Amino acid sequence: MRVLVLNCGSSSVKFAVVDTRSGEASVSGVVEEIGLGASFKAKKGEESFKTKINAPNHSQALDYIQNFFKEVGEDRDIAAVGHRVVHGGEKFSKSVLIDSEVLKTIEENSLLAPLHNPPNLQGIAAAKKNFPELPQVAVFDTAFHQSIPNHAYLYGLPYYLYKEHKVRRYGFHGSSFRFVTKKTAELLKKSPKELCLIIAHLGNGCSAAAVKFGESADTTLGLTPLEGMVMGTRCGSIDPGIVLHLNRSLGYDFEKLNNLFNKKSGLLGLSGISSDMRILLENAENGEEGAKIAIEVFCYRAAKEIASLMPALPNLDALVFTGGIGENSEPIRKKILSHLEIFKMQVLIVPTNEELMIATDTEEVIVVP
Ligand code: ADP
Repeated sequence: MRVLVLNCGSSSVKFAVVDTRSGEASVSGVVEEIGLGASFKAKKGEESFKTKINAPNHSQALDYIQNFFKEVGEDRDIAAVGHRVVHGGEKFSKSVLIDSEVLKTIEENSLLAPLHNPPNLQGIAAAKKNFPELPQVAVFDTAFHQSIPNHAYLYGLPYYLYKEHKVRRYGFHGSSFRFVTKKTAELLKKSPKELCLIIAHLGNGCSAAAVKFGESADTTLGLTPLEGMVMGTRCGSIDPGIVLHLNRSLGYDFEKLNNLFNKKSGLLGLSGISSDMRILLENAENGEEGAKIAIEVFCYRAAKEIASLMPALPNLDALVFTGGIGENSEPIRKKILSHLEIFKMQVLIVPTNEELMIATDTEEVIVVP
């Protein structure tokens, strides 16, 4: 089945047409900087496309994508649209066909993911308009982690904040963890139900999950995608007292703190150079101190977060690296592992494919058995 996979961010639409049988994307690309002089990039086989376009909103970005599909003969036989939706809250533990009830719940969860769910909703509305005849499926980043027990998802805060305001750990990167769990099991010639894994997804966003007999038992991201590891531009776990301190002593308000923790911290903030690990590795090689320290902090903290998941598992069959950094950077993996020598374990590298996971989920949801 050919599925159009959409991942809509605040100013971008990533798209791919994935064939669930072959697992290949016949065409993929992104519209970036929606709203201000948008750009369109796509790949179809060996061919690349790149152009400036007029896309003041998600709907117009999708108009362009749809016309592009017609031009390159990719509009044929698309059976459904699969949407990456960031926050499913406690309502969704698996992917679902989008109806008005589902839309309402995604909207309610916008409060928990104000940067992510609103653009996801805009993407769904645009896709409904452009592809009215196609079923639309929501695949949630949080769904896989709904199996986490309450002793792992509750914060040490007054219980009413959970009961009345849903303040708890949710976790993200669920499609990646699910895909990698399946692939790791295939690699080890076992069923996921026989395995205990820690999967470290290291990309622009970073998190790890303890996967116990095929289900998430704990993970490092929390209520929002800020907790846990040091990431490209996000700070990871910090002493909450820092928030109070910055507010009281420097007068940082909500907007400033939000921007600081999400956009100006992590590898970018520590190095003062870039959030991109490849660029930092190059700079570190040339003796640039900021890059070196950012890499050291990143690796130590990644190791510490991986180790923090050990209590969630009865044993550990493998530590699995995935994501852009996890899959491609041997020096980073080595540095992380150097901090974990106390634990003896098998280490694997398994490339993730979130688009394929979204496409196969979409197929499963729409094909009534
Ligand atoms: P996203 O989380 O946006 O999907 P990716 O999983 O593609 O991102 O990861 C992007 C990160 O992977 C960037 O920091 C990039 O520098 C890093 N990366 C990709 N290839 C390499 C490589 N060969 N060596 C080191 N880092 C790499």
